Amino acid sequence: MRRQKAGNTTWGFDLGGSKLAAVVLPIRAGVLRDVVEPVAQRLWPLPGRSPHDLRACIDEAVVTLRAAHGAPAAVGLAVAAAVTPAGRVGASPNLGAPAGDLLARWLTEATAGATVRVVNDGNAFLHAELHGTSGPIPGCAVGVVLGTGVGGALAFAGRVRTGPHGLAGEWGHLPPPREADPDALGVPCGCGRSGCIDALLGGRGWLWAARARGLAVDSPEAAVGALRHGHAAALAARADYRDRLARAFALWADLLDPDCIFVGGGLASVPELVADLGPLVAAFRYGGRSAPRVEVGRFGPAGPAIGAALIAAGIGAASD
Ligand SMILES: [Zn+2]
Repeated sequence: MRRQKAGNTTWGFDLGGSKLAAVVLPIRAGVLRDVVEPVAQRLWPLPGRSPHDLRACIDEAVVTLRAAHGAPAAVGLAVAAAVTPAGRVGASPNLGAPAGDLLARWLTEATAGATVRVVNDGNAFLHAELHGTSGPIPGCAVGVVLGTGVGGALAFAGRVRTGPHGLAGEWGHLPPPREADPDALGVPCGCGRSGCIDALLGGRGWLWAARARGLAVDSPEAAVGALRHGHAAALAARADYRDRLARAFALWADLLDPDCIFVGGGLASVPELVADLGPLVAAFRYGGRSAPRVEVGRFGPAGPAIGAALIAAGIGAASD
């Protein structure tokens, strides 16, 4: 393979269940002095989940970005799967068949030899929050991604903890504290168990909460629409959802006493669901009355792709 001269941009991809999102950052490597501003953001819907579909989507994305921005210096790919510090990608209930090393090889081939890093999407999201700006770095930070399912990450002094199996901070398949919430016990999860945080607090869980209150909706977005129209069942579902979310956040608060919980993923852009959670978290926390700061991620849906690009460019503390 002919290795092209490295360009002046770093690309970040975020492979979700239904789309491949991309950002182009104007960096090669070094230290950020200001807030990251992507020079481009693009989204490709996945035609399907087969290896052929994924490969075709990656190839199209690389051809399009290279035509506009030249060859990348480095490429980061965020995936919803456990990724060890050595780059090994484990199984994921939400990601299709191709293992991460296959995805990395395709990206390396498509970009004619750029350095490719594959990282967990929750870790990438938290890395972006910690290192995509010049602001102060919290001593202990938690990242929570409320997407279709739920991802998580944690960091100490700006260093994202990966863990030897790539599973540090993955709280999605824990059971939430569930006293007075017996209905939630039987909600099936992609991992094969039921009643997991992943099944209750992602977009799927929000939709389930709405239907459990009798709302006839077929998507999380439709349930948000009903909420914004003041539908009584949607308002009740919102209270149920926020109650469960606050209980689950109280797990983090009791376990780590973090300075800040950063919230990302699609549901983070619905303030009706995630705003002003602090008092509710404090109410469920052991000892009560105090809760970590809860902040919505500053990069919106682009967070994981930006974090993956920063990691690929070597910007910010390396994870361990
Ligand atoms: Zn699960």
